[in-house]
Amino acid sequence: PDLTELSARLTVCRACPRLVAWRKECAHVKKAAYADQPYWGRPVAGFGDTKPWLLAFGLAPAANGGNRTGRNFTGDPSAAWLFEALHRAGLATLPTSDNAGDGQRLTGVRLLNPLRCAPPKNKPTPAELSTCAPWVARELELVLPAARVVLCLGAIGWSAALTALANAGVDIPRPRPKFGHGTEATVAGLHLLGCYHPSPHNTYTGRLTHQMFDEIITRAMQLADQ
Ligand code: SF4
Repeated sequence: PDLTELSARLTVCRACPRLVAWRKECAHVKKAAYADQPYWGRPVAGFGDTKPWLLAFGLAPAANGGNRTGRNFTGDPSAAWLFEALHRAGLATLPTSDNAGDGQRLTGVRLLNPLRCAPPKNKPTPAELSTCAPWVARELELVLPAARVVLCLGAIGWSAALTALANAGVDIPRPRPKFGHGTEATVAGLHLLGCYHPSPHNTYTGRLTHQMFDEIITRAMQLADQ
């Protein structure tokens, strides 16, 4: 399948009973701020360029973000922070990512999550991660040929990216390279780059600043000769 067909197939996946129940519950028991809005309440596909030089890995859609809007990294504080930064770097048409109909477009970048449904407390079980692994592996098969850099958001994104690459047939060195902000590793010609996740926990506390993120994007561009 191509990316459009893959996304269409993904939206009807019900392989994880706990996550199917949770994504539905979030859509019924809405956060007060979004009480008047419909919730997507289904799996969320990757979002961005279909021939990306940069792949960014998070973990899963947020209950009131991607799970509400139906678009990856859309409609929550992490998304707002990330898109402001991507826009500064000329990689996103808009400095915001509020809803799936906002006209946002990414150039050269694709945002992926190894888990396609929002998990309770943002904590998937190992079984859920492994059940969902084929979805990101299939998406990776379609976008890897163009990719040069994999930006891993947080230690979980780093580990998930390595696992997803391994599932997509990429040789991963042993021992696995370890995550750190600014850490780099080369895996079968792909550059892995670690960056703290742009969650409020990191951005509100100053652990991840705009300048730090801009430096990571500049480095990603250097590595990819962009
Ligand atoms: Fe399907 Fe993945 Fe959602 Fe599980 S997490 S129901 S495998 S899309």
